[in-house]
Amino acid sequence: MVEALILWSVGETPVSGPFGRDRICGVVAAPDARGMVRQTRAALRQTRLLEVRLDWLADEEGILQFLGWVRRRPPRATLIATCRRRVAGGRFRGSIESQIGLLRQAIECGCAWVDVELETAENFDKGTLHRFFGRAKCLISFHDFRGTPKNLAAVARRLDRIGGDGAKIATHCKSVADSVRVLQMARGRKNVIAVPMGEMGLSARVLALQQGSALTYAAVEQATAAGQLCIEDMKHVYRADKLDRQTRVYGVIGDPVGHSLSPQMQNAGFRARNINAVYLPFLVRDLRDFLGAIEPLGIAGFSVTLPHKERILRLLDDCDPLAAAIGAVNTVVVRGGGKLYGYNTDYVGVLRALERRIPLRGSRVLLFGAGGAARAVAFALAQGGAMVCLCARRMERAKALARAVGGEAVERRRLRREFFDAIVNATPVGMHPHAGQSPLDAGELNCRLVFDLIYRPEKTKLLQLAARRGIETVSGVEMFLAQGAAQWEIWAGERAPEAAMRKAVLEALRRQ
Ligand code: NAP
Repeated sequence: MVEALILWSVGETPVSGPFGRDRICGVVAAPDARGMVRQTRAALRQTRLLEVRLDWLADEEGILQFLGWVRRRPPRATLIATCRRRVAGGRFRGSIESQIGLLRQAIECGCAWVDVELETAENFDKGTLHRFFGRAKCLISFHDFRGTPKNLAAVARRLDRIGGDGAKIATHCKSVADSVRVLQMARGRKNVIAVPMGEMGLSARVLALQQGSALTYAAVEQATAAGQLCIEDMKHVYRADKLDRQTRVYGVIGDPVGHSLSPQMQNAGFRARNINAVYLPFLVRDLRDFLGAIEPLGIAGFSVTLPHKERILRLLDDCDPLAAAIGAVNTVVVRGGGKLYGYNTDYVGVLRALERRIPLRGSRVLLFGAGGAARAVAFALAQGGAMVCLCARRMERAKALARAVGGEAVERRRLRREFFDAIVNATPVGMHPHAGQSPLDAGELNCRLVFDLIYRPEKTKLLQLAARRGIETVSGVEMFLAQGAAQWEIWAGERAPEAAMRKAVLEALRRQ
């Protein structure tokens, strides 16, 4: 078990910086003035720091209309005006002169900052830029939407040469290592904003403030760059503005990982227990790339999902014997000296979900599917004293797993005639977005209980078929919660707040 986690420093108020008290910047971006006003109002409920993307408005008339509204009803917020040209990845089609003219108008209407891209700034000397923008502060920005340059120090030097009041480096990250390099640009430097873009940079955006970035951006209605989170998630799920150097960082690694409900579940647990920790989704294609980020990001543990559950075994320093027997790890703890120790809590999840409903000892359970999750289920059932029957579309896999757990392989055609105490689906058939499908027909469900490992949707087609036949059903949500609570307990070293975690998962499922 890890030592007790450091408690959250509740009540600590952030020191007001050059962008005001808030450090999560809501990005207001709409094609017309009405949309910009609506988004501004919505964003103000969450933050007093807004970027207004004037270049997203369809024409200059719309920009002037919106700025007129800002002048008449100045929002109580720090506004950063951006009118980025297309050459720098923005949407503004006009000339540099009209861009400067609109930014000057934005200042007159109350914007405290202007964001000027290097492609524009490098056309002028420092004195001229200052004359253009007078009392407003100037953020000089660098964007690369295709990748992260090898030499980021050279980029920083270009930005420094302009001598703005702040600098922003936003690059597309193709690896976790890229996102770490982008974050490092903000370390120990004042008024530098690090923006790791793309799906691979999503978690680094959450960690940006903790790592020294002056602010982090979040979408109000729609993302303006890949990997941008919405402001609600940034603030309430990840609490990005509350993270500090003591925060313990956890996460889930997978590919894909965007659909995972683990961040909602695990963060709700940390919140409920007032623990200074955050749990993030890491899109990981190459395991070694992620392992290299453990030390710089201060990662204390992580969950492992498809397709890495088996491959991670080879990269661990040590592993729970049961996880080794199953041949899959879904939970890793980072111990002293960066040593990695693996567990399998899917196993615990199966037992917790089933044991409450049927006595496993002496029961006969059919497991349909013979992949990674099926291995954990088969070992758990066998350990619980059940006779495990296996059926899969590739019977040789079913036979091999049956041999490993002392069970029996059952041909598909026998299912209509056989009776089981329980049937467990361990295939992805029926999972979102193919919710209309069932892995088994109604006639094959001859049992007292059906357990579907799928948790999205909560009530799969298979469970509906079973319920119609009067069979008791168990959703994959039960296993998901139980394996997640077991992970949480391994990391936190105390009992998981299961009710809070369940509530967060069910709410997220019902929103989808
Ligand atoms: P996996 O390793 O890819 O294994 C999937 C299994 O399903 C394989 O045996 C595969 O057969 C079989 N299969 C796939 N499509 C099929 C089809 N159309 N007809 C018949 N069999 C089919 O995946 P996994 O990690 O075991 O995950 C399986 C399911 O469990 C997923 O839906 C996953 O979300 C769920 N799960 C839930 C939890 C939870 O906490 N609730 C935890 C883990 C997993 P082949 O070998 O022939 O391809």
